[in-house]
Amino acid sequence: IVKYDDLHKSFGDTHVLKGINLDIYPSEKIAIIGPSGSGKTTIIRLLMTLEEPTDGDIIVAGENLWKMEVGGKKKRANEKHLRSVRKNIGMVFQHFNLFPHKTILDNCAMPLVKVKKYRKKEAEDEAKKMLDRVGLGDKYEAYPANLSGGQKQRVAMARALVMKPKIMLFDEVTSALDPELVGEVLGVIRDLAEHDEMAMVLVTHEMDFALEIADRVLFLDDGVIAESGTAEEVINQSENPRLQDFLKRFR
Ligand code: ATP
Repeated sequence: IVKYDDLHKSFGDTHVLKGINLDIYPSEKIAIIGPSGSGKTTIIRLLMTLEEPTDGDIIVAGENLWKMEVGGKKKRANEKHLRSVRKNIGMVFQHFNLFPHKTILDNCAMPLVKVKKYRKKEAEDEAKKMLDRVGLGDKYEAYPANLSGGQKQRVAMARALVMKPKIMLFDEVTSALDPELVGEVLGVIRDLAEHDEMAMVLVTHEMDFALEIADRVLFLDDGVIAESGTAEEVINQSENPRLQDFLKRFR
């Protein structure tokens, strides 16, 4: 469903991603682990079109995300092309990014009205289904400020899910939460991983959770994928000293 082909990203003089090659298959669940600054967030921000690659390609559902062909020549993709490819992708951030002045229901229904041109009533019905699914069926009319961090994060998931993405990206979604709220958010992700067909990419520091749900774990180190394999292979069996060193800090 997604292919990174020799992808590079620099910010000024800082070469952050140094040739990422990665195929993500439909319904595959991938966890990305690695030290702070290794480029984990950048990998998924590029897919979400929040950053533009310096070099290389990203292909989503057969379409080159950042380049389009016009009259036989490759050109930088325009906004319309980016929007159309991005429809396949949902993202949940570390800091929820909800609209504070809108109810939970409006937060979740709005993308369907704006992007998919649903009528308000249809959008709300769909949003209610997703809010029920993340366990917030009794909070439709609440505002973000009145929810706990864990609840806000579940709203953010429902908002991404209403769009029925083919791939969902989770960027350290539990790291801004109080420890006692982490479980409820991981519970929702676990449920999605078990029952949903979409591909999932999680940037996470929760090693036990990665072991539990990931089909594949990538260890990103200094801008390259240094290890890739099943969760068991990467987290429990690898002898890579950099990885060992990293894991010591999280286990
Ligand atoms: P963390 O676990 O701390 O979130 P990460 O592995 O997700 O780290 P990234 O956030 O992808 O790392 O950042 C990789 C490097 O790129 C860092 O050195 C960071 O300072 C730099 N970087 C990221 N975004 C930008 C930006 N918009 N402008 C300049 N530098 C950036």
